[in-house]
Order: sequence, then structure tokens, then C-alpha cells
Amino acid sequence: MPQRSMIESSHQTWKVNAAMAALVLAGIGAVVSFAGPRQARLGADLVLFCSGFMSMGFVRSVRCPKCRKSLGWWAFRHSRLDRWREDLESLTSCPLCGFRDADVP
Ligand SMILES: [Zn+2]
Repeated sequence: MPQRSMIESSHQTWKVNAAMAALVLAGIGAVVSFAGPRQARLGADLVLFCSGFMSMGFVRSVRCPKCRKSLGWWAFRHSRLDRWREDLESLTSCPLCGFRDADVP
């Protein structure tokens, strides 16, 4: 039987989804900032800046239930840029302390 994702079982999937939504918003802000009408560029810069920070905040807030270290940041630093989300969501144990979801009664 396949093990459940640690992120899913600790109810942190919404943080990953929020980070992805903020990244999409940052991408839209970047496109408008560089190629949009001049009047919209200040607003787009603000959207890019804020949503970029929000995205990193959501990524960093995905934590191990036991050691409380950031699994999101770990995945972001140790995985390829196009695989960090998949690697994060497939974790069945904490790569930092070894905690396994199955250890919870
Ligand atoms: Zn841990």
C-alpha cells in the first residue's frame, strides 16, 4: 500500500497551492511590468513584489509536524526548479529529522 504524502496528511497542501497561485500572480505581474502599458507598470511591479514574497512565505511555511523545520524551503533548495513541488508533495518522511507520518497514532 502506498504511503500517504506527509504534506497531505498534515493538511498543508493548501500552502503549496497558495504558493503556486502567488507564483502565477507574480508571473503575470512580471509580464505586465516588462511588456504592459506604461501606466500599469507601477501596479504590476507592486503585484510582482508582493506576490513573490507571499509565494516564498507560503513555501517556507510548509513545515515538518515534529521538528518544525521548513520542508518547503528544503524542497526548493534541494530539488530541480521544475520538480520541487512534486518532490515536496511526495515526501513520506521528513528528510531533516526522519519523522514519518505513520509514527502518528
Ligand atoms: Zn522533521
